[in-house]
Amino acid sequence: KRRLDTRTVRDYIRTIVDFPHEGILFRDVTTLFADARGFRMAVDQLLTPYAGEPIDKVIGLEARGFILGGAVAHQLSVGFVPIRKKGKLPGSVISQAYALEYGEAVMEMHDDALRPGDRVLIVDDLLATGGTAVAGISLCERLGARIVGCTFVIELPELGGRKALESLGHEVNALTA
Ligand code: AMP
Repeated sequence: KRRLDTRTVRDYIRTIVDFPHEGILFRDVTTLFADARGFRMAVDQLLTPYAGEPIDKVIGLEARGFILGGAVAHQLSVGFVPIRKKGKLPGSVISQAYALEYGEAVMEMHDDALRPGDRVLIVDDLLATGGTAVAGISLCERLGARIVGCTFVIELPELGGRKALESLGHEVNALTA
């Protein structure tokens, strides 16, 4: 007989010290993605707050948001739209700059990926300062889409991402801190 497995999503995530540089505690979700039960639980739980809500498209933020967002979109039977770092998308794009700890980065989305009135769900693995998600939201809104919510596996509450998104009027969900 199979023993009851009580592990939660959090139990499948490992922390790598000093990656990609000193002082960073990198939350590694590859161990979550690699586990059949862990990955399934994560995808289901990302969607639980939105059960019964109409969603037209799932938006994934590069790169781990693609893995989660693809599975979430399949579960909902809706389309998936990637938001990528500058220079990666082949078609005509709109761009959004955002601040990093040092300097600036640019995210892009195909300019025909969404239609006005589309209801979209933003998916990524981790919410830190919220800069990436805010840039993603503004790209979606520039094409006239409505943000249903932003859903993450992990949030680092001390970095203020939730406040940044909520102060813009967006719903934030995270599975673990
Ligand atoms: P931010 O824009 O500050 O909210 O950062 C979120 C983005 O950076 C996400 O796409 C994360 O995958 C990545 N990220 C930021 N901090 C970490 C961390 N400590 N561990 C793993 N990924 C991180």
